[in-house]
Amino acid sequence: MESISVFDMLSIGVGPSSSHTLGPWRAALRWIAELKEKNQFHDVVAINIDLYGSLSLTGRGHATDVAVMLGLTGFDPVTFPIEDIQKEIDFITSQNKLKLNNELDVPFVPKENIIFNRKFLEFHPNGMTFTATFTNGSKKSSSFYSIGGGFTVKEERTRKKIKLEKFAQFPFPIEKGTELLAYCKAEGKSISEIVLENEKSLRTEAEINEGLKKIWDVMLDSMYVGAHTEGILPGGLNVTRRAFDMNKNLIGNEKYADAEGWIAAIRNTEVKFRQILKWVSCFALAVNEVNASLGRVVTAPTNGSAGVIPAVMMYYMVIENHDANFDDVRKFLLTSGEIGSIFKKGATISAAMGGCQAEIGVSSSMAAGALCELMGGTPEQCLMASEIAMEHHLGMTCDPIAGLVQIPCIERNAMGAIKAINACEMALDSDPSKAKVPLDKVIATMWETAKDMTSKYKETSEGGLAVQVNISDC
Ligand code: SF4
Repeated sequence: MESISVFDMLSIGVGPSSSHTLGPWRAALRWIAELKEKNQFHDVVAINIDLYGSLSLTGRGHATDVAVMLGLTGFDPVTFPIEDIQKEIDFITSQNKLKLNNELDVPFVPKENIIFNRKFLEFHPNGMTFTATFTNGSKKSSSFYSIGGGFTVKEERTRKKIKLEKFAQFPFPIEKGTELLAYCKAEGKSISEIVLENEKSLRTEAEINEGLKKIWDVMLDSMYVGAHTEGILPGGLNVTRRAFDMNKNLIGNEKYADAEGWIAAIRNTEVKFRQILKWVSCFALAVNEVNASLGRVVTAPTNGSAGVIPAVMMYYMVIENHDANFDDVRKFLLTSGEIGSIFKKGATISAAMGGCQAEIGVSSSMAAGALCELMGGTPEQCLMASEIAMEHHLGMTCDPIAGLVQIPCIERNAMGAIKAINACEMALDSDPSKAKVPLDKVIATMWETAKDMTSKYKETSEGGLAVQVNISDC
């Protein structure tokens, strides 16, 4: 069993795609670390990057080339100022050189040195190979695979070995929903309390709180920025940002100066069912509009689905419980992270492996279970909520138009968030002992469905809306 921390499932990064932007960015950083470890870094005179399969087919729309260049330049996706992205890329393209790890000049022409191959590598649909040429003329290649949610692996899986060792240290090793429920029952603890114990075996409680606070700050910021930015999204589809107008219409005359003030202002507005639907949609759209414009978001569990979890948490804060505080945020993130990791272990969180059910479906399931805990649900009801949310995303394909994470992706986050809230409410009114479909069965079903799905519906933009609608129609 693999050890997956909440901080693996919810990581701060840059849009628009976790597997096609964040993963390749991190792979480039790992490759530089490899070169350094082997004392080969200073002998590099040329570099080439081959992108394969799904990574290549939607790579341009997902800014994979941009991410690889920023990674090779040594920038950290968590802290790099996103407003400087264009400046850095312009420097590389105008100078035809790249400063490897900000240390070593190497000639670099993006159109020639980043090669988009239609071919799929056998190990995973999102493959990439970095090749270095050294001063003595020899070459060395290293392949990485972006397996969803920003996770990257090498075929030999050395990292997994380390993770397996860490897993053995978890007081409550969890692979399935049934195991999680058994620990909750035996210990008399909630899901978030069990997860917290596991996290404490990796870091101190103060570090956990600090990390979760940072994650929530980025989530809140992405909602705030998205809801206060108007205009057209980049990429050529001419998609108008909608969160701005929704927020303006819903907030009325309430005044505020920052994100915290915005929360207080929303709490002052009058909300009926329609307004609740619109607010939740506004939060989700806001995050994914930021994501689509290469902004900073939290991968949850992917970038394409980054809006669902913040939108549902925000719903709880501004609609359900006006006294909600960081303690609630902490519980919500711990529970949602654990549910996501059960999906990753039992199925996939990669659209290139499982279509959109693996992104929006999983995020909705994570949010439903976490909301259920905040609403007073038992652990059994929480997993029932997660199951309901996934059950109604089964089979959802990935077909982004023009390979951009915009249509249908942005709206799908609003739908995923609403479904999560509904799933939570249904579970709260149900007796989980009478549920016909346990969470583990829906995860197994999702994985079987993923395997049956043809590759054109797995982040290749070769099927569905992606072929029915052309960029020229937009
Ligand atoms: S269609 Fe779904 S899985 Fe595919 S890129 Fe969009 S959000 Fe991600």
